[in-house]
Amino acid sequence: MGKVTGFMEYQRLQEASEAPQSRKKHYKEFLVHLDDAQAKTQAARCMDCGIPFCNNGCPVNNIIPDWNDLVYNGNLKLALDTLHSTNNFPEFTGRICPAPCESACTLGINDDAVGIKSIEHYIIDKGWENGWVTPQPASVKTGKKVAIVGSGPAGLATAQQLARAGHEVTVFEKNDRAGGLLRYGIPDFKLEKSHIDRRIEQMQAEGVVFRTGVLVGKDFPGNITNWSKEIISPEQLQKDFDAVVIAGGAEVPRDLPVPGRELKGVHFAMEFLPAQNKVNAGDKLKDQILAAGKHVVVIGGGDTGSDCVGTSNRHGAKSVTQFELLPQPPEQENKALVWPYWPTKLRTSSSHEEGCERDWSVATKRLEGKAGKVDKLIACRVEWKDGKMQEVPDSEFELKADLVLLAMGFVSPVQQVLDAFGVDKDARGNARASTEGAGCYQTNVPKVFVAGDMRRGQSLVVWAIREGRQCAREVDLALMGASVLPR
Ligand SMILES: Cc1cc2nc3c(=O)[nH]c(=O)nc-3n(C[C@H](O)[C@H](O)[C@H](O)COP(=O)(O)OP(=O)(O)OC[C@H]3O[C@@H](n4cnc5c(N)ncnc54)[C@H](O)[C@@H]3O)c2cc1C
Ligand code: SF4
Repeated sequence: MGKVTGFMEYQRLQEASEAPQSRKKHYKEFLVHLDDAQAKTQAARCMDCGIPFCNNGCPVNNIIPDWNDLVYNGNLKLALDTLHSTNNFPEFTGRICPAPCESACTLGINDDAVGIKSIEHYIIDKGWENGWVTPQPASVKTGKKVAIVGSGPAGLATAQQLARAGHEVTVFEKNDRAGGLLRYGIPDFKLEKSHIDRRIEQMQAEGVVFRTGVLVGKDFPGNITNWSKEIISPEQLQKDFDAVVIAGGAEVPRDLPVPGRELKGVHFAMEFLPAQNKVNAGDKLKDQILAAGKHVVVIGGGDTGSDCVGTSNRHGAKSVTQFELLPQPPEQENKALVWPYWPTKLRTSSSHEEGCERDWSVATKRLEGKAGKVDKLIACRVEWKDGKMQEVPDSEFELKADLVLLAMGFVSPVQQVLDAFGVDKDARGNARASTEGAGCYQTNVPKVFVAGDMRRGQSLVVWAIREGRQCAREVDLALMGASVLPR
């Protein structure tokens, strides 16, 4: 414990950020990590409470009280090593994790939780600034070959762990750049892509080979991002490699089956967001969906919807409205009831701060337009009784809508990919594999493992990293009969 009385002396400090009106003019990150003095006092707020619920609340089980103590005492290099011992990519989570650890912080019961995520952000950024994040190639090679399908956080974490265990790792990615949703989906203003590039360079120096533009499978649905130029069959991978890990995410978006869905100007969020990532990367697009000068309606109240709000505002939308089917959650959770778990409460993202009308308990009834192009959305209010949704009588209303973005979550992984491998699925269409016990992360197909959203369904970056790490250990165990990789 850094400072015994720290939690009584210091207030929680949010990271500094650029004002909404000015940051809306660009796509760069706008949060500034804590400075040295701030990080020290924020770390001093940790009480080292004895049973670190935060450590359990964090999906990768970051050893939070230890690195808080190390930051307070100025031992940054060891803080970085401690952080890296559980998390391959803290620069991603330190920026975009919703921080379930903080909901579990003991100080949070009757005060503001320790700013764990901001301290994580500080440690890893200082690590890169000081040149402490370097390649760690394995000293002994095993001669075993592993293929990873998908380069999102799950695939990257699996690849890095296995390369460090001495295996020859190749990552296959259908898109033209590696990173999964970190690259194409999550906006640059939340996560600049240079962070991914830097990690990929580190992994290449550790021996990982990246093959982008390669689709593994047979056929693939046309409405999902796919910039592949080459196709490899699962059989070929199984023949060429000692093990295959499928980490292809959960890419099938939930659709809105209402009249007018077919009108021009109605798009999935994942047709809208990756295009902006590409333009920010310097690519020229002929047909980018733009929100400039339009009345934009975003359907769906989660992270993806919020990213559509931020991107629409940066395009220069005339108005942005976001609807959610569920009722508005309370502004403050009842700590006595929910701590240390993740509470349902009203969350206002940085994109909401930049300008957006938000409305809850709203269902879209139909979309209307002229000359095949959407210009109006007809909705109604709903109420929820015993878990069932009912339309409120006479509550229909309409709204101008030149661009409708569907951000209602993701249903499952692409079924064609799982079918091409012949892996069993669970009731939700995810690849079936357990996470505990012998043979975990293994599918029913010999040599084929699975990790990340492809196994657990739509989730979070930090869960993908956890699954990647745990899956890597199982692959290592299967190949070598023993493993020193951490779980
Ligand atoms: C818009 C958006 C915003 C989000 N914001 C956040 C956030 O702020 N914080 C957070 O924690 N989480 C966020 N998430 C969720 C998070 O991004 C995912 O949970 C996480 O990326 C899942 O990681 P993954 O590696 O399992 O899959 P993905 O990141 O989806 O990566 C899978 C990769 O596999 C590739 N692939 C698929 N099939 C094949 C194939 N057959 N052959 C070759 N390649 C293939 C795909 O192209 C993709 O690159 C967000 C999600 C979206 C959509
Ligand atoms: S990865 Fe997420 S949950 Fe874990 S310590 Fe960091 S912010 Fe908290």
